[in-house]
Amino acid sequence: MKHALGIDVGGTTIKCSLVYENGKLGEKVILPVVKGEEASLTLNKLFDLVSPLLDNGDKDFIGIGIGCPGMINSKKGTCDDATNLGWHNVDLKRAFEDRFHVSAFVENDANAALLGEATFGVGKEYRHMVFLTLGTGVGSGLFLNGKIYSGNEGKGAELGHMSIDFHGRQCACGRKGCLECYASATALTADAKLAMAKHKESLLWNICKDLDSCDPASAFEAEKQGDKTAKEVVDNYVRYLGEGCLNLCNIFRPEAILLGGGVAKQGENLSSRVQSYLSERNYGLLGLNVPSTKVLVSSLGSDAGIYGAAALAFIANREWQKAVK
Ligand SMILES: [Zn+2]
Repeated sequence: MKHALGIDVGGTTIKCSLVYENGKLGEKVILPVVKGEEASLTLNKLFDLVSPLLDNGDKDFIGIGIGCPGMINSKKGTCDDATNLGWHNVDLKRAFEDRFHVSAFVENDANAALLGEATFGVGKEYRHMVFLTLGTGVGSGLFLNGKIYSGNEGKGAELGHMSIDFHGRQCACGRKGCLECYASATALTADAKLAMAKHKESLLWNICKDLDSCDPASAFEAEKQGDKTAKEVVDNYVRYLGEGCLNLCNIFRPEAILLGGGVAKQGENLSSRVQSYLSERNYGLLGLNVPSTKVLVSSLGSDAGIYGAAALAFIANREWQKAVK
């Protein structure tokens, strides 16, 4: 069965596994990231780690895909800058091709996760999708007309920096009111903490004990237990995320908006609420025949990046393309 190696480079770990065309994963190997380590040293460790997974001369092995954070040039296969890793001008494609003598492909991490969902996960049946990762910030990817949208220099799109209130919160990017300032996991936690400080009677205090242990799941948990303050926090979060999604519906008219990242672990409880928000307000409600947009949560979770990295190799493989058509 055809298979490819998927490598998901993250800020704290690098996860690798073979991915088979039927969607099964092989053994997963993980390399912890050492802050400040030379990229060449990290790559050598990575080569040693994945070598045992690869069998020289295996005709069903079709290539290596790498999903990497930071500024990625997917055409050249380089990581131009990844601040969290301290990587600068790292030619990933060439390094892997020289070492393993198979084709290697590189994509930014959000695009790779989106491609994983579009090829092996919940997005399989869609050709037009917007992907938002609700994590430290709000990352994004676009899958349009059945392909990843690469953007100028392959740098994709920064949908998290779409302003939804230009008098709003100050964003790290320099503008005000960016979606990221309201819909990231960081923003949700900060809002829950503010609400806790104001409402000493809130059940959030039973769940978190103190402000420091508040996390993106806290408000959702307290709400389930009937807490009014937490419900307000979550409703407000859904409203901002929903307004951002409505803008994206109007701009891209996607079949689906896919939510990933920490907050998407809330699953159906999150997607159904954003779905209702959109369904009640989407353009076209006044009798115009506009198709609706489905709100989905990531089905591959933290493995989406590995799947998507491997999918880069599958998609580049013409025989596999013919077989799935
Ligand atoms: Zn911004």
